[in-house]
Amino acid sequence: MRKLLLESLMRPPLTEPAPEPAGHAVAELAASLERAARRRLGRSLAIREVDAGSCNGCELEIHALSNAFYDLERFGIRFVASPRHADVLLVTGPVTENMRQALERTYDATPDPKWVVAVGDCAVDGGLFSGGYAVVGGVSKVVPVDLHIRGCPPTPTALLAGLLALVEPEKA
Ligand code: SF4
Repeated sequence: MRKLLLESLMRPPLTEPAPEPAGHAVAELAASLERAARRRLGRSLAIREVDAGSCNGCELEIHALSNAFYDLERFGIRFVASPRHADVLLVTGPVTENMRQALERTYDATPDPKWVVAVGDCAVDGGLFSGGYAVVGGVSKVVPVDLHIRGCPPTPTALLAGLLALVEPEKA
């Protein structure tokens, strides 16, 4: 028993090393996004996230934008609960038959001008779930899409870079 304890203390943990923090890049991107939103809209950006059938991997990265590390709200960029308050719809996953109508209604409820961003490979063309009996396909099969952010899932930095390219395309 003592030998086992000693071995477990000496052995390094069986986990992958953590990635290098991208704190500066994220802070710069978020600050640029906030300035671009103020120029284009006269105020900060409001985002409504719509899970149209995702595996939730994309949601984990989107939620990370609000955690203590990325803390997107310090730049005034907010996730809102209602599409009526949103400038951007951030849609994840392949659109499923069950979510098709909800996505259409969310799109209709979002006031103009609005942008739709399809997040993740599944949102482009159905990805892994393409051809499934419950899957309609990519987001553009249901509502018009302004930007695709690829990745499975895309990182928080890729999400911010994509949003910046959307709000201020000439700077991207
Ligand atoms: S792109 Fe990847 S992480 Fe995102 S919903 Fe599809 S399978 Fe999940």
